[in-house]
Amino acid sequence: MDLAMKAEDVAFRDEVRAFLKENLTDELKAHARLTPGILADQDLRVEWTKILHKKGWSAPSWPKEHGGPGWNVMQRFIWASECAAAGAPHGSNMGLAMVGPTLMGHGTPEQRAKYLPAILSGDDWWCQGYSEPGSGSDLASLQCRADSDGDDYIINGTKLWTTGAHQSNKMFLLVRTNPNAAKKQEGISFLLIDDFQAKGIKVDPIITLAGDHEVNQVFFDDVRVPKANRVGAENNGWTVAKYLLEFERGGAAHGANLRNSLNKLKVMAAAERSDDGEKLIDDPAFARKIAETDVEVTAVEYTEHRIMSQLSNGQNPGAAASMIKLRGSDTNQKITELGIEAIAYYAEPHVLEARNWGSNVRSVGPDHALMVMPKYLNTRAQTIFGGSNEVQRGIMAKAVLGL
Ligand SMILES: Cc1cc2nc3c(=O)[nH]c(=O)nc-3n(C[C@H](O)[C@H](O)[C@H](O)COP(=O)(O)OP(=O)(O)OC[C@H]3O[C@@H](n4cnc5c(N)ncnc54)[C@H](O)[C@@H]3O)c2cc1C
Repeated sequence: MDLAMKAEDVAFRDEVRAFLKENLTDELKAHARLTPGILADQDLRVEWTKILHKKGWSAPSWPKEHGGPGWNVMQRFIWASECAAAGAPHGSNMGLAMVGPTLMGHGTPEQRAKYLPAILSGDDWWCQGYSEPGSGSDLASLQCRADSDGDDYIINGTKLWTTGAHQSNKMFLLVRTNPNAAKKQEGISFLLIDDFQAKGIKVDPIITLAGDHEVNQVFFDDVRVPKANRVGAENNGWTVAKYLLEFERGGAAHGANLRNSLNKLKVMAAAERSDDGEKLIDDPAFARKIAETDVEVTAVEYTEHRIMSQLSNGQNPGAAASMIKLRGSDTNQKITELGIEAIAYYAEPHVLEARNWGSNVRSVGPDHALMVMPKYLNTRAQTIFGGSNEVQRGIMAKAVLGL
């Protein structure tokens, strides 16, 4: 695989750089920098999506026929790398990354026409209702019920760990439509909730170890959803759910973000001192860890290129989605661990400082240390969400190794 840029790639990179220079405001950059995970300020997330939409760039991975820019794999790689390097927001957008591609694959023409434009424009924000208490890795055991009532379903139950539910106006979810199915996978349907503020829906916040509000528990009490909002056939939602998971696991721009984080780590290690008083980056033990991580980041970049090529040829990533999810999240955690090692005792006070949203965030130690601990804490969840890494290993053992 050739990652070297040709003349047209350099021209495209320059176009992207010029666009980012002109449109990425200081406010957006500052907020993105102070966010360990998903952009906390919904207004800014919408603002950035609308800026991208105006240019026709809000959905880098979508095909042209559905409103994407029709970029090739190299252009998407350049876009992701330049955004990461420029400090652009890279928060999760489950409309673009998950439900959009799923509607392209399994939705009706009416559903595509209804939902895709508002995802592209940033008018709709979707959240994912898959997990429940007791149904995470064993997702097929889910209990949230949708009972048939004429042209509608009536939903009762709960969803757990719902990222961004407090910032969303729409939800896609898995519900049990046949509690008596012989196999539990065969009694599940995939639904779209149009009005997430509707009566009967309650969203309770869950504050994480890092002090962030990203996840929630959602409760449904007799919530009515039209049957026209079902994606795929009744009781065939498991097929749709698995299709979406491949995009969730394989679709993120892991490589560009990892490369950017590693570059920042190198800058930090050049400014910090080892116990012997030499630059940390010149300390043989630390330099070796950085070199090993660099190799891992390169492997993720190449794997991601392969996945992007498959996606742009209309193929699903399959088991490669599990591979990239596993290696991407492990490597990201490793980079944040090296960050803590690099700044040593400056790590702790910065948790408190960086959580001081909106006010004058100061650095107790060097400025580069400010977000190291919040990022370390936030990244712990990466090996759990989207399906835990142990579960990804199980999928690979079956699908790749045939065990
Ligand atoms: C920050 C965050 C955001 C999330 N966002 C969302 C969201 O937006 N929408 C949503 O639907 N869900 C979301 N989730 C839920 C996530 O998908 C689940 O947490 C995950 O699938 C694990 O399920 P669980 O928490 O029930 O753990 P469990 O399934 O109970 O697992 C507990 C432990 O057992 C291990 N384990 C379980 N089964 C196996 C197995 N077969 N083989 C080997 N080990 C196994 C797991 O790896 C884990 O270590 C989020 C989770 C987090 C932490």
